[in-house]
Amino acid sequence: MIRIIVILRRNSVAIFLFACCFFAITSVVYTHGFHPDLEQWQKRGLVVTSVDTKQKVVALTFDDGPNPDATTEVLDLLQKYEARVTFFVLGMHAEKYPELIKSIQYHGHEIGSHGYTHNVRQYNNPQFARSDVQRSLQVITSISGIRPHLLRPPGGFLSRQLVSYCIDEQLTIVIWNWDADYKDWKAVDSCLLAKQIITGVEPGQIILLHDGGENRQVMINALSLALPTLSRMGYRFVTVSELLALKNQ
Ligand SMILES: [Zn+2]
Repeated sequence: MIRIIVILRRNSVAIFLFACCFFAITSVVYTHGFHPDLEQWQKRGLVVTSVDTKQKVVALTFDDGPNPDATTEVLDLLQKYEARVTFFVLGMHAEKYPELIKSIQYHGHEIGSHGYTHNVRQYNNPQFARSDVQRSLQVITSISGIRPHLLRPPGGFLSRQLVSYCIDEQLTIVIWNWDADYKDWKAVDSCLLAKQIITGVEPGQIILLHDGGENRQVMINALSLALPTLSRMGYRFVTVSELLALKNQ
């Protein structure tokens, strides 16, 4: 009898450990824009990671802002090189810095939603995800007067429920090119980061950068090196919506 209890206990520990590993693996995978249904969502245009085009265009995207320590400097730099980009802003930061949202808009850039709180783990709860996105849309719309139609879920989180919600709300989910994620948020060498952006560039790419967060100077310096070089290579910098309009051209 005691033996049976021990075996059962061992088995339940094994099952528990397996369940933990499975949960950890799936949550990591799904929060970086991978999902078993990704390919069919891409085919249907519900989730975008890049755009097929022969034109030398890329969409630079800036996440997690607006941020008074970086956004204005990024805007000045973009203006210098006539770059139009997309800012995926957080609702809670938009609420705090509405003047930066207006400045982004004034400079002709596109504003998409990155959710309200950036609470990636909570996005496993479909109800939380819905209300978080909804709240961000309300905040951005009330400041800019324009309701965003692009969503970049925090951490690139994807789920069937979120995609279904986005269909109802007419939101296109924009992730990014896997090979154009240079982890700028932890980069320490601006020359290296600029080199990665320049050597990795391809028509139709959606490049992930961050104006939100601390110590954005490495990214800003890299951008000041990459923008003139890419311009000389013949690249134009467009918003995600403009890039989507260039599909198959
Ligand atoms: Zn983010």
